[in-house]
Amino acid sequence: CGIIGVIGTRPAAPRLLEALGRLEYRGYDSAGIATLVNGRIERRRAEGKLGNLSAVLERMPLSGTTGIGHTRWATHGAPTEGNAHPHGTARVSVVHNGIIENHAELRAELEAAGQEFSTETDTETVAQLIDLNLRHGMDPVDAASAAFRRLEGAYALAMVFAGHADLIVGAQHGAPLAVGFGEDEMFVGSDALALAPFTRRIAYMRDGDWTVINRSSARFLDAKGNHVARDVKLTKLTG
Ligand code: GLU
Repeated sequence: CGIIGVIGTRPAAPRLLEALGRLEYRGYDSAGIATLVNGRIERRRAEGKLGNLSAVLERMPLSGTTGIGHTRWATHGAPTEGNAHPHGTARVSVVHNGIIENHAELRAELEAAGQEFSTETDTETVAQLIDLNLRHGMDPVDAASAAFRRLEGAYALAMVFAGHADLIVGAQHGAPLAVGFGEDEMFVGSDALALAPFTRRIAYMRDGDWTVINRSSARFLDAKGNHVARDVKLTKLTG
C-alpha cells in the first residue's frame, strides 16, 4: 500500500521506518524492510502496526545504507508476516503496491521453469520473474525491464539487487511512485509526504515509466525503453 526506498550514505533502516510512518495514513496490515548488508539482501517484517516492525528491528537491527520498505494492504494472500513485503530471493527483493492481474498465469509458468515460491502473494511473481531473468544471465536493469513487459494490472514497484548497493529500480503503472533527489542520496516513495523528511526535490513519473536510480542520479525510461526527461519539482510540503 505504501512504498519507500533509499540509496545513500547513512543507515537506511531508521529512515525507511520514518517514511513508513508517514505512509500509515493509507492503512496497512503488515510492514517490512530490506537492506543490502555487505552485498547481501537482508529483511525484517512484521504483522500489524509499525511498532511491531520497530520492535523486531530493535532485537535484530539491520545495517546498510540502501534499502526498500513497504506497508501492505493485502489483496492476494493473508495478512501474515510471511506474506508481508519485501518479497524475493537471494538475488532480488521487491516491494509492490497494487495488483498483478496475470499472477496465476505467471506463477504457473515460473514454477514450471523451476522457480520456488514461498508466499501466496501476486507480488512474488514479479520477484520470481526477475530472479529467473537474473539466473539466465541478464543484468539487473535488463532483468527488471523484461519483467515489466510481462506484467498486467496496476503497480508501483521498487527493488534492490544483491551485490548492487548503488542501485534501485522503480516502476509506475497505475499506482504512483515519486523519485526524491537528496544530497548524495536518492529516494523513491509512494508520495512526496513520505519523502518530506529527506527532500523536497521530487520527480513524478508517468504511467508506464520506470526508473534506474543510483546515489547521485535517476534515469527515466518509458514503457518502450526510450529515455525520457521528468522534471524535478520543489514540493511545498514541509518535513
Ligand atoms: N497485491 C499485493 C499484496 O497483496 C500488494 C498490496 C498492497 O498494495 O499493499 O501483497
